[in-house]
Order: sequence, then C-alpha cells, then structure tokens
Amino acid sequence: MRGNQGGVEKRARAPHPKAEAAPAHPLSSSELSGRLLGAHVSISGGVGRAVERAIQCGFSAAQIFLKNCRQWKAPAIHAGEATAFRRAASSSGILFFGHAGYLLNLASSSEPLGAQSLEALRDETARAESLGLPFLVVHPGAGARGEAPEAALSRLVGRLRLLFPAGSSGPSIRIALETMAGQGSQIGWRLEHLAWVLEELADPCRFGLCLDTAHLWAAGYPIATRTGYRNFTGELERLALVDRILAFHLNDSAAPFGSRRDRHAHLGRGTLGLAAFDQILRDPRWSGLPMVLETPKEDGMEDDCRNLRAILPFLSQSCPPPAGERPGKV
Ligand SMILES: [Zn+2]
Repeated sequence: MRGNQGGVEKRARAPHPKAEAAPAHPLSSSELSGRLLGAHVSISGGVGRAVERAIQCGFSAAQIFLKNCRQWKAPAIHAGEATAFRRAASSSGILFFGHAGYLLNLASSSEPLGAQSLEALRDETARAESLGLPFLVVHPGAGARGEAPEAALSRLVGRLRLLFPAGSSGPSIRIALETMAGQGSQIGWRLEHLAWVLEELADPCRFGLCLDTAHLWAAGYPIATRTGYRNFTGELERLALVDRILAFHLNDSAAPFGSRRDRHAHLGRGTLGLAAFDQILRDPRWSGLPMVLETPKEDGMEDDCRNLRAILPFLSQSCPPPAGERPGKV
C-alpha cells in the first residue's frame, strides 16, 4: 500500500461521514464465489470497528493497520480489545491480515533509523499476534540516494534476522514483504531483490511476499497483456517465488507503466486496466489467497464494493478455490 493511503489515514484521524456509512450495495457471499476478497479497512474507533466495517461490506478478506501508520508510538491494544477482535473476526469468517506502518525503513543506511524501525516492527508483530493475524505486510524500505540496491537489501536481511533470532520460538506470525513501485531509492521493486532476501533469510515459515498489482505495473512488469503476464509468472517460477506469495493488493495505477511512481486508482480506471485482474483471478495458483483493494475511497466503503464488482465477473470463468487450509498459517 502507498498510493491512496492518504485517504485512508485522513479518515483514521477524523472519520468522514461517507467513510462511516455502511455501503448501500454490499457484496453477497455468492458474488464472491468462495474467494477471499475485500479491501483495506480503517481501524478508526478501534480494531473491533474494522470487523464491523468488513462485515457491512460483505468482504471475505480484509487488511488493517495495527496503529496509526504515520506515527512511531501508539497506545497498546488492550487484552480485552484483542480478545473481542479475535472472537468477532473468527465468527465473521473474514480473513484479516495486517499492514505495518509507513515510517519503518528496515533497509535504512542510518543505524538509528534502522534500529527504530526494527523496534517498531517488533511492536507491530506483537500487536498482530495479539489479534491472531496470520501475517503482516511490510515494505522492504529504501537505501541511501544513489546507493546500489545490494547494500540496502543486505541491511534489510540483517534486521529481519534480528526480528526472529535463531533458536528463539519468536512470534508465530509471518512477514509478507511487499513488491514496490521503485520510487526514489526504494528496494523490492524487482522480483530478484525479494527472491534474494527470501533466500538469504532461509525461513519459508516466517517470510513470504505480497504482490501489489499497481506497484508491479509501475515497476515495469507488463501484467496487463497475456504475454506479459505469462512472462511475469514465469519469472516467479524461475525465482521459486510462487509458493511464497501470501496475498495480493488489487490496485489499478494512476501512474504510467514503468514510471516507478506509486499512485493507486480505481480498478479499470487507471493505466493498468481490467485485463490484469482477469488473468490474476483466473489463475488457479492464486485462487486460495486473500486479495484486497487499496483503492481510493471518495465515496467511502461503497467505492470498495464498486471496485470489486468490476472484477467479479472474472470469477465465473475461474477455477474454484482449493478445499481445506487457508493461507498464511504457519
Ligand atoms: Zn503497502
């Protein structure tokens, strides 16, 4: 997530009436065809409100922040609130997962910022665990300006190793590193970056990936065309990443292909277009994975329902989800 987050967070501070209103046209479970689909939902008013919002929309999957995503410190989630969240989430049947804050830079060339980021990630993983979330999406970060990506990638690996020290039972939650657009000195916009990080960490039970469609497109992966999508998934196979994917962010892009700019748009109203979502939804390799929108919410949660309805027709031509276990469990 990045491009549209301003809208999400403005409401986290001062909820807009439209953001609070239940959508007039929520999704029905039959429309979702058993797939794990939804959007990023606000925790404004407490994490319990996120469950209510996701239910109101008819989602089967949802992403949440664990605290204000633009602040280092935040009040703790009280044990009672966490228990209530777990109960409500479980009885809703909705798969919730987390997204870490934006201030974190685990690849930073500044030792104090890197250490602070690791500490913040420890806090976020503890929060996510208390809510029973299976994984937390984390941005790989950025290096110093003009620096080769290898140095930043090494720092990311070094700090992530400290998150789960060898021999410790540590948190049971997984970390899903997100594919980025490649703005500035960001790392993680090339699949090779993330493949190298995962190989170095050598801990498939704890580290995986989250693919963001707008970021992939802006980073130069032509997933809108049949050939481009085939080449992209071929790259995933070649780099042994297919089984490491834990979730998708479904976003169209307001920035052009290959621009390395991160701006999210409503599905079918950006430069990416609906064809990419058709291919992703019909690809049986992803049919059991949660997929969430991070698209603008000018019209509140109604926008999320509208965006998902733009791609739901593709499900009628897709393979059914695999029976059995849900993703993200360690
Ligand atoms: Zn993100």
